[in-house]
Parts: sequence; structure tokens; C-alpha cells
Amino acid sequence: MSNKPKIVILGAGYAGLTTTRRLIQRLSLEQAEIVLVNKYNYHYEAIWLHEVAAGTISPNDARVMISDVINPKKATLVYDTVVKINKDEKRVVMKNSETTYDYLVIALGWESNDFGIKGMSEHAFAIEDINSSRLISEHIENQFSKFNKDENADDDSLNILVGGAGFTGIEFVGELAEKIPVLCKKYGIDRSKVRVINVEASPSILPMFDKELVDYARKSLEDRGIEIKIGSSISECTPEGFIVGDDKELIKAGTVVWTGGVKGSPILEKSGFELTKGKVNVDNDLRMPGEENIFVIGDCSWVWNKEADRPYPSTAQLAMQEADVVAANLEALLTKQPLKDFVFDDKGTIASLGLSDGIGVIFSGNKITGKTAATMKKIADNRALYLKGGVKLVLKKGKIRPF
Ligand code: NAD
Repeated sequence: MSNKPKIVILGAGYAGLTTTRRLIQRLSLEQAEIVLVNKYNYHYEAIWLHEVAAGTISPNDARVMISDVINPKKATLVYDTVVKINKDEKRVVMKNSETTYDYLVIALGWESNDFGIKGMSEHAFAIEDINSSRLISEHIENQFSKFNKDENADDDSLNILVGGAGFTGIEFVGELAEKIPVLCKKYGIDRSKVRVINVEASPSILPMFDKELVDYARKSLEDRGIEIKIGSSISECTPEGFIVGDDKELIKAGTVVWTGGVKGSPILEKSGFELTKGKVNVDNDLRMPGEENIFVIGDCSWVWNKEADRPYPSTAQLAMQEADVVAANLEALLTKQPLKDFVFDDKGTIASLGLSDGIGVIFSGNKITGKTAATMKKIADNRALYLKGGVKLVLKKGKIRPF
């Protein structure tokens, strides 16, 4: 048996996959055994899932085979589902196997959070992974196809209800604004028959942007036929649709999608870790408090932004930067060097509003809209691919859709 230290990375999302790549670059094969555990044999672009859900890109476009970006000779790839982490025994239990570790990186991502709203998990779709997103686009197309074939079909069956106007909800309805006219043409349905209604509890959409950008986004979407209903809390989801607001209005739809929030992987709770709002509050060097050998990154942890006195919002950009620091800190642990603190280098935030529109703030506060924002978003998406798999991956999966 090898006596090399064993580093186990759980999850091949932005955080876990990048950590593995960086570790391979930093460490020799003699220095450590690297093991990457993931449920599937592919990584997916989580920030493109709204496009898969709308059907504007195919599931395959958003999927990257792990063995294409991680050399299996340099890291052991285990495709299995993590069930529980036993930190006292330094052991990870999976559905079909188990592994021990000397160092652990928990990067198990997120899942949809319905905050216990009655009927939501039973009756609404959620944009969670490739499969759940693919089901949404197939369901929508199915509704159009059925409507086209059945002359007694109910107009409400074409309606699409989206619950929550944060990043995911708004980017999803932006893609629907592109897709609905295409489906209408394909199935001979008048566009005016299809309602897309985005329901949001708070008084504004996209709280991370200022009023000028929010107003731009809202107008862009409404001009393309998206209805946005703010200040309307969803209290229940029934097989027919959402129950909304104080007067308990029922909004009916054939497709209902919940984009009202996310939470850290349930494995954290199952493993008995101390959590704050479903995630681990990590130390500045990204370790779990009190644990020398466990790092928690991506959507499983909160990293404190000292300047703003609140945690950084979770993004792919943040996860990938955390991965760089974790790889450096693991090397530091192996070579008995001091660990470094994580400092976020914010390159900006952009929300897409479909293929050729968007809003964003880049390079310390410059606001962008329209095609500039859409172009910058594609550049950011391609850059994220480059960081994971170099030029080869950009050429294979890069965003080169023309406007
Ligand atoms: P979110 O929590 O950011 O937004 C959810 C929205 O749903 C909120 O506006 C909330 O007010 C609303 N909501 C919650 N309960 C409701 C109710 N009962 N009725 C009506 N509305 C309700 O969730 P998200 O959009 O899924 O994003 C999750 C995280 O992922 C965020 O941190 C986000 O920034 C990040 N994200 C980033 C990107 C990107 O950088 N491109 C893309 C998607 C998501």
C-alpha cells in the first residue's frame, strides 16, 4: 500500500474540478495521491443550465467529460455518489464504495431550496443539474406539441410560470424570450397565446444590481413578452400553478419552474457539520473551523467578505478562485509552509437576458448592457472553459453562437 498522503476531492463542479487540475499542476505523482469523486462521469456548466432548461442549447453542450480535462493517470477518478462524510474516521461513504483520506476538499455544490413551500417539490420543476434542466425543455416542447394536436387544448397549458427572479429566474426567462417564438413557429401557435410569468416576492428583481440596470433588464424582458410580477410571494404550488400574494390568486400554467433559491449540499447536514444557513462558515484559509485537513469551497461554504461584512455571493468565479487557494494551501500543508488567506478578485457580474442582451458590472464598477454585456458574458463563459480545459475545451464547447 502507498504511504503517500491521500487528497480526496468531493464534487467535480467549478470548485472541485479546478482544485483537482491545480493540484495536478502543483504536485508531483510522488507527493500525493489525488482522488476526485463525482456522481457522474461528467462536469456540467452549472451557469448554463438555464439555457438547457429553455432548450436554447443542448444538454451535451453544457457537459464536459471529466476524463477530457483530468488526466486519469494523474488522479484517480471515482464515479459514485457521496452519502456521508465521517471526519472522525477520515472516511467518505459513497453509494457503492468507501474511501479514506488524509486531506479532504468538500465541493459538493448546491441543490434547489423550496423553503418548505407546500407542493413545490411535488409540482414544480427545478433547474438543478443537466437531467432536471433537460426535463424542463422537453416538457415545454411537449406542451406546445400537445396544444398543436388537440383543438380543445386549454390555453393555460402553454403558460410557463417561473418562481423567483434572482439570477437563475431572470436568466431563464431571458432564454425563454428567445425560445418561445421558435416553438410558436414550429408548432403553428400564435405568440400571444403563450404567457411567461416570472413571480418575485421582493419589490425588485435581481437584487445584486442597481436600479438603472434592473430597470433595463425589466424593460428588455417585458418588451419581448415576459410578464414580471414583483412583490408577489408564492405561498403554494398546486398541480395547476402557483398561489400568489395576500389574495391567494391562482396563476395557472402547464409548466411550473421554481428558481426561488438554493442551499448547500444536504451531505453537510447528514455528516453532522456545524452549519450557518445550510453552509459551513469557513476560516480565511478556506478550512472548516477546527479541522486542519478539511477544506470546504464553492456553494458548500460561506467565505467572509470583510469589507462588506457579509459573505461573498456564490458564483462560479468565486468557486474557481477558491479552488486556486485550496490547491496552494494543500501544497503548503504537504511542504509544511504557511497557508494563505483567500482574497476575492472580483472581475464583475453579468446576467444574460437571452442570446444578445444582458446587464452587468465589470472592472470595478463599469455598467454594461445590451450586446456589450452579452458579448462579455460569452467571453467570461469561454474563459471559465479555458481555465478548466485549455484551448481544446474552448474549441469543443465554447460559446460561439452568433447574435
Ligand atoms: P436567489 O436566491 O439568488 O434568487 C431567488 C429569488 O427568488 C429571490 O429574488 C427571492 O426573493 C425569490 N423568492 C424566494 N422565495 C420566494 C417566494 N416564496 N415567492 C416569490 N419569490 C421568491 O437564487 P438563484 O437565482 O437560484 O441563485 C442562487 C445563487 O447562485 C445566487 O448566489 C446567485 O448569485 C448564483 N448564480 C449566479 C449566476 C451567475 O453568476 N451567472 C447564475 C445563477 C445563479
